[in-house]
Amino acid sequence: MLDAVVVGAGQSGLAVSYYLRKYGADFVVLDASDTPGGAWPHYWDALTLFSRAEFSNLPGWPMPHYDGYPPRDHVVKYLSRYEQRYSLPIRRGQRVKHLLHDGSAFHLNSFSARNVVMATGIWSAPFVPFVPGAFAGQQLHSASYRRPSDFSGQRVAVVGGGNSGAQIVADLGLSGVDVQWFTRRPPTFMPDDVDGAQLFRRNRERFVAIARGEGDPGGADFGGDIVVVPEVRRARAQGLLDASPMVSSLDSLTDFDALIWATGFRPALSPVRGLERGLDTPGLFVLGFDSLNGPGAGTIGGVSPFARDIAKQIVGIDQ
Ligand SMILES: Cc1cc2nc3c(=O)[nH]c(=O)nc-3n(C[C@H](O)[C@H](O)[C@H](O)COP(=O)(O)OP(=O)(O)OC[C@H]3O[C@@H](n4cnc5c(N)ncnc54)[C@H](O)[C@@H]3O)c2cc1C
Repeated sequence: MLDAVVVGAGQSGLAVSYYLRKYGADFVVLDASDTPGGAWPHYWDALTLFSRAEFSNLPGWPMPHYDGYPPRDHVVKYLSRYEQRYSLPIRRGQRVKHLLHDGSAFHLNSFSARNVVMATGIWSAPFVPFVPGAFAGQQLHSASYRRPSDFSGQRVAVVGGGNSGAQIVADLGLSGVDVQWFTRRPPTFMPDDVDGAQLFRRNRERFVAIARGEGDPGGADFGGDIVVVPEVRRARAQGLLDASPMVSSLDSLTDFDALIWATGFRPALSPVRGLERGLDTPGLFVLGFDSLNGPGAGTIGGVSPFARDIAKQIVGIDQ
């Protein structure tokens, strides 16, 4: 009987593991993937963080310096070295499909534990909205987008007015792919000097205010939704980020060869569905979700305080 099983060895699973180790808990981490880095190895080749390395630290060991915005592979290397540094007890190739709870303990795969932390991220639960009509070409979600060369010679429609949509349109457009962006509302950009650092500071202020019982002061209004990372800035300057209103039927997209849905994700929590009390099951924790934990929990630099609180509850340390 373990103190805890952590499901997911991405940044959230590593952060809570760091504290579980620090507080002397008996635990394992189960991860479906065969390789380290959580979802990061699966993001597209050109993806960079929207903040500099010094704002993207997990507990204990900061992300090594990088000049500029760290690319995806810098994050993967950091997470790989992080789990080695702390010799975290990670079991790979262990997809958890069901959680069973017998009233006092959880049973999952071949393990039993008093607590479970679902640090399963969002990447395996891509969201595609219903739009009537049919599209004959290739359709994919941004979760499966890799690189512009996969679309050379094609005409590509990208749907979704957030950061992923803007970055994928920029990536394709700057590589010479014929791409058109479709958004429900006209996309709005943050000022060029706002990046993850300001978002991180704001999330921190919100976290502290909530922890003090002062209530959530809310996100700052930066005048837009999209962080203007260098690639987005270059694409916008070249007029590649002029969006068209979203079509009411996919039948209007017959001129396109491919359709990329950059329409977001949902928490990947399907194994919880079988539990009678769902997320209210005693001993069940979720980690890494802004919508469920609080501001910044879904970012590298913001997950630590949430991870520490959960680890303290598991080992019974007063907050
Ligand atoms: C396109 C994009 C760009 C982003 N850019 C930034 C950024 O610049 N800065 C920033 O701080 N954040 C960024 N984020 C947000 C966040 O940092 C990432 O989503 C990050 O991957 C979340 O880490 P995680 O550990 O919570 O989840 P993940 O990295 O998704 O890791 C979850 C792990 O759980 C495993 N898993 C899932 N389900 C199961 C199961 N049923 N059984 C066993 N294992 C399972 C998976 O294999 C995976 O290894 C970005 C997100 C996206 C989508």
